[in-house]
Amino acid sequence: LIVLSGVNKHFGPLHVLQDIDLTIHRGEVVVVIGPSGSGKSTLCRTINRLETIDSGTITIDGQPLPEEGRALARLRADVGMVFQSFNLFAHKTVLENVTLGQVKAKGVRPAQAKATAMELLERVGVANQADKRPAQLSGGQQQRVAIARALAMKPKAMLFDEPTSALDPEMINEVLDVMVSLAREGMTMVVVTHEMGFARRAAHRVVFMDAGQVVEQAEPEEFFTAARSERARDFLSKIL
Ligand code: ATP
Ligand code: MG
Repeated sequence: LIVLSGVNKHFGPLHVLQDIDLTIHRGEVVVVIGPSGSGKSTLCRTINRLETIDSGTITIDGQPLPEEGRALARLRADVGMVFQSFNLFAHKTVLENVTLGQVKAKGVRPAQAKATAMELLERVGVANQADKRPAQLSGGQQQRVAIARALAMKPKAMLFDEPTSALDPEMINEVLDVMVSLAREGMTMVVVTHEMGFARRAAHRVVFMDAGQVVEQAEPEEFFTAARSERARDFLSKIL
């Protein structure tokens, strides 16, 4: 579904993505882990073109990423992204947050958009908060709204960049549970997280990045018990 091939990216002198080759199959859940600054967020951001790349190719369903205009808007709908900081529209209600994109980017009629939004809010367990503003919700609730908002665009794939790392511990599981159920329903997902419990429960594959490179890829069980690279074992010894 998503294929990165020979992808390089620099920020000035810093070579943040170095010859990345990565294929994400339809229905696959890939967890990306690695030290701070290894390029995990940048990798996610290149996939929906929040960052451009210097060389290499990225394709989705065989099509190169569009560069601008309506095609780019469609890409952002097709590949939903959920960030560490929930990024909701602060001055809109929860319901409006989940309806606006459908109406504006997809031309869905308002009544239909609202019905879809309520279904999704129900599914992530915050339907009773629909008329509130984001600031009136807990972090865990806000993040679930952000997931509902991305799902409202009927994405082909979802990217999650440390979706639980800004949350209080008691709210982490309510977000992870939503993500696990999405994974079980067959959503294609790329998830940057240090939640190894999530990786064990839901991931098909763990990708370990260090210093801009994909150093190792393996099934979670294998990765956690018998990582092949020294760098991965060293990283795991610090976080497990
Ligand atoms: P973390 O675990 O801390 O989120 P990360 O693996 O997500 O780290 P990135 O955010 O992808 O790492 O950053 C990779 C490198 O690129 C870092 O050294 C970072 O300082 C640098 N970087 C990221 N964004 C920019 C930018 N817009 N301009 C310049 N340098 C950047
Ligand atoms: Mg990051």
